[in-house]
Amino acid sequence: MNGKDKTAAILLAAGSGKRMGGPVKKQFMPILGKPMIYYSLKAFEESFIDEVILVCSPDDEGFIRSDIIERYGFTKVKKIVPGGRERYDSVLSGLNSTDDADYVFIHDGARPMIDNAILERGLSAVRKYDACVIGMPSKDTVKIADEEGIVSGTPNRNLVWNVQTPQIFSLPLIKEAYNDVVSRADEYKDQGITITDDAMILELYNGHNIRLVEGSYRNIKVTTQEDIILAEAFLKFS
Ligand code: C5P
Repeated sequence: MNGKDKTAAILLAAGSGKRMGGPVKKQFMPILGKPMIYYSLKAFEESFIDEVILVCSPDDEGFIRSDIIERYGFTKVKKIVPGGRERYDSVLSGLNSTDDADYVFIHDGARPMIDNAILERGLSAVRKYDACVIGMPSKDTVKIADEEGIVSGTPNRNLVWNVQTPQIFSLPLIKEAYNDVVSRADEYKDQGITITDDAMILELYNGHNIRLVEGSYRNIKVTTQEDIILAEAFLKFS
């Protein structure tokens, strides 16, 4: 690794996990007996990442410190900062809490299957392109629907990717873009634009090229109960 490249990870764990239901927030639900975000923290701990900024609800900070960080001996969590209402508010909170990195890896705590190979591919790509997104080519044909649920188009499947996290950027670049775009979030909303990932921030800000980088079909986002079964199966057989 180039000595001057300092890397930070923002780990998002401030969602309410509504789609999963149940008393425990999704990002803390047990997977093979350990809370979901344990797996991302472990991947960062064992990688080149220099520091982790964990974004969560202030109500969960005590539990995260005692039952996850201290219990498993994670050493790279340098800051725990409060999240916001939308995912993009939580990312902005993480970004504005650090200047101390060249590159930032923004990762959903709901993706426990991240691994070192993905992180390494991301680092090589971000050094070259300053902005890259982990994803996989779509296995399915994708349809665009109109508001009535009628098919209005079919993009060329060879050009369709499903994007995952981490999404990885030059820190000054993404910080400037995030602060600008989030301050206009209501204007974008009025135009029917919902910001659902980090790459969109750059697309809206200045159209900077964003490189797609191969992740893994295992790097699923745990969203519903069946995803827990899948994640446990992947972990058992990895
Ligand atoms: O809800 P969804 O699965 O899309 O959330 C993706 C990730 O973003 C999760 O790890 C969740 O905890 C996080 N998030 C957040 N702050 C929010 C909403 C989601 O940190 N306001």
